[in-house]
This record gives sequence, C-alpha cells and structure tokens, in this order.
Amino acid sequence: MSENHGILIVGGGFAGAWAAAAATRAVRAAGARHPVTLVAPHDDLVIRPRLYEAAPHRMRVPLDRFLSPIGVRRVKATVTVVDTAARSVTARTPEGAEARWPYERLVLATGSRLTAPRVPGAEHVHAVDTMEAAVALDAHLRALPDGPATAGRYTAVVVGAGFTGLEVATELVTRLRAIAAPQGARDEVRVVLVDRGGSVGLGAGPRAVIEGALRELGVVTRMSVTPVDVGRDGVRLSDGNRIPARTVVWTAGVEAGGVAASLPAARDRLGRVKVDPYLRVGGVDGVYAAGDVAAAVVEDGHLTMPSCQHAIPMGKYAGHNAAADLLGGSPAAFAPKGYVTCLDLGAAGAVFTTGYERRVELTGAEAKARKRLITERWIWPPLDDAGRILEEADHLVLTGGRRVSPTPARSVQAFREG
Ligand SMILES: Cc1cc2nc3c(=O)[nH]c(=O)nc-3n(C[C@H](O)[C@H](O)[C@H](O)COP(=O)(O)OP(=O)(O)OC[C@H]3O[C@@H](n4cnc5c(N)ncnc54)[C@H](O)[C@@H]3O)c2cc1C
Repeated sequence: MSENHGILIVGGGFAGAWAAAAATRAVRAAGARHPVTLVAPHDDLVIRPRLYEAAPHRMRVPLDRFLSPIGVRRVKATVTVVDTAARSVTARTPEGAEARWPYERLVLATGSRLTAPRVPGAEHVHAVDTMEAAVALDAHLRALPDGPATAGRYTAVVVGAGFTGLEVATELVTRLRAIAAPQGARDEVRVVLVDRGGSVGLGAGPRAVIEGALRELGVVTRMSVTPVDVGRDGVRLSDGNRIPARTVVWTAGVEAGGVAASLPAARDRLGRVKVDPYLRVGGVDGVYAAGDVAAAVVEDGHLTMPSCQHAIPMGKYAGHNAAADLLGGSPAAFAPKGYVTCLDLGAAGAVFTTGYERRVELTGAEAKARKRLITERWIWPPLDDAGRILEEADHLVLTGGRRVSPTPARSVQAFREG
C-alpha cells in the first residue's frame, strides 16, 4: 500500500473539483497541513451542460489550472473499489497498473452517466453525456453531407423529452441547418423528439412555453412511443412506425453507476448514495458524497437534482465537512439556495423557472440571456488564481462568485477557533 492521500476526492467534475478546493480552504484555515488529493481518469473538468452545443471539444478546462495553484495533488486513475473498512481505495492507472491508497477522509464525486439503451441496434445510437460521446456526435453530424443522399440524411431522432432531450432537439435544428444549408438541403432538416411519456418533460409549469418553442422550430414530437429497433438509417417505434434517420441521440435515463455500487450504503432509484445533511454517507465512517452520485434531502423533502446547481455547492460542503471532521471542526449542513431551471430552446430562446413546481419567470430572449450567463460564465471555475479559487470555494459563495451571506466563512472560522 502506498502513501496516505489524506483527504481523497474521487472524481474531477464540478463536485470533485470544488470539494478539493473547499477541503484545501478548510485545512489552511485550520493551520493544518493535511494533503488533499484528487483522482480522476481525465485531465479536464468537462463543462457537461454545454455538450449539446456545436464544437463540444471546447467545453473543458484543464484540472491542473484549478488544482495546482491551490496545492491539490492530482492523480490520473480510475477508482474501481472503495474499501470502507480498511479506509482505502483500489485504482487503475491509464497504463493498466493497479494501486491501493489509504485515505483519512473520502469524498465520492463520480457523477452520473446515461443508462445504456437496451434496444437492438444500440451501437448506432449517439449521446451527449460525456465529452467523447458529444465529440463523436459532432463529427457524425459534420460528415453527413459526405454520406449517401438517403431520405433521412438530415433527420435526427432524439429519444427522451426531458431536460437534456429538449436542449438537444432544439439545438439540433440549428446545428443540422448549418450543416445542410451549404448543400442546398436546409429544408431537409427534420428533428423528431420521442418519449414514452404522454407529454414533454419538466412538468405543467413550462409546458406551454416548451411546446410553443418546439412548434416554432418545427420539431415533431412523438409521445407515448419508444424505439424498439435502431438501424444505421432509421428507427422503428413501438407503434410500428419507422422513421428514416441517419442520426439517433439517446438522452433517456441517468444513473449513478460504477464505484458508487461498491459502497455499503443505501441508494435511491437512480443508484445514488443517500447522504445526511452534512453529506456523510449513511452508516459509513469517514466517507462523504457530492454531486450526481449523491442524493441529499433539500427544501420541502425534495431530493437534490443531478445538476450543476446542486453538484457545485454539494462539492463545497462535502470538502469543507470532510476537512472539519478530520481536524475537529464544525461541519456545515447543506443548504442550497432556491431551486431554479434554465432550459435552452435553441433559436426559440429559453425558459427560466423557479421552485420545484417550476413557475415560469423568464422566456424568450430574456431567459436566453440568463442561460448564457449561467453556462458561459457562472459554471466555469476560476483558473490560475489561488486567491480567487479559495475564495469561491467557500460554501457560502454561490456559483459565479455571488456571496449568499455577509458572514465570511462562518464554519471555517468556528473550527479555527476550536
Ligand atoms: C447535455 C447536458 C446538459 C446539462 N445541462 C445542465 C444544466 O443546464 N444545468 C445544470 O445544473 N446541470 C446540467 N447538466 C447536469 C450537470 O452537467 C451534472 O449534474 C454535473 O456535471 C454533475 O457534476 P458531478 O461532479 O457530480 O459529475 P461529473 O461532472 O459528471 O463529474 C464526474 C467525475 O467523476 C469522474 N469519475 C467517474 N467515475 C470515476 C471513478 N471510478 N474513479 C475516478 N473518477 C471517476 C469522471 O471522470 C468525472 O471527472 C447537464 C448535463 C448534460 C450531460
């Protein structure tokens, strides 16, 4: 067994990166020198909320520009097993070597993934949930003009009319038109949104706005059906109809998979690990979980949503609490500020809602401007500047640097004072 990794963060997404920064902030505030280590299989933090856009390869930042300035050690590896009794993890390096590392406190932040489609022909299906998948879809779309001029050359079927499916479908209209127009085929572009539910997602609040946007963009909806067979050139639906289409994008179903399953912990229906208000994994000493892999109870008994909006503050609270636990400080109960959604509707604008019942607050260009603020500015982490990174790692600072309370770093201060 090799050197102790101190506070070990598993996962280099939004929750993991912010957990590492928050743990570092708390360790420094306590005048301690415990190491903070982050292990992830990739070199970059992927800005997943923008993977439905064109040129998705741009949606990343090097983890080292966030972690190195604050002295967090990064190890490139995939954790395969967490042994909570021995307080160690087993990890596989990119070269295939296996290592076992002890930890003092662990923050699990391994995110979520698309549930693999269980349909014949699933190998023809595209996705946008990972950088690799989004880049492959982008390359596929750009190559469409080089393929045979079949009936469904510029038709895309998007499976799942939830948050991601709606963003993909509305944006694909613009993306496909940009690709088809130089070939004189702009009018051949067709986007079909398929869902086994009876209506598009996000509930009754924004439904009329969403349906209006789909109509405006010419997106065809096929509700109460599901694909039963996918081929290179089309999709057969459960009602017997076949849609000729060169592109199928699957967005339905998300799960917290992988290493989370190795924890001896209770899970919700998405496989997420249940955590207490301090983001401790129930019944497992020294282990915290944050982001899409964790389910915490928030306002009015709702569970956290797989979203950056929750992953970023959860990471900060989990990192802070792991350090507080280790150093004898006070933990802080996770208290996110008001749930909102901002759904991109492509060239038809966006819709911004508040509350879990999703009251519509902004639509059209105003909502689009809010969406841009969130995805083009607020969720991108500060880079290279240790002072700013540690300042924003405070769990009382919201995404984008807005402070929620005038009290500076209340609980860090509390545990520094003993
Ligand atoms: C197309 C799309 C649009 C979205 N739009 C929005 C939006 O508008 N608003 C919003 O709030 N959210 C949105 N989301 C959701 C948001 O991206 C996620 O909720 C967020 O990325 C979760 O952060 P995370 O850190 O929990 O997980 P991730 O960002 O997925 O990071 C997980 C990390 O863990 C690593 N990892 C996984 N397994 C292991 C392992 N075994 N060992 C080591 N490392 C591991 C991964 O490589 C990755 O670094 C969207 C997602 C998608 C795909």
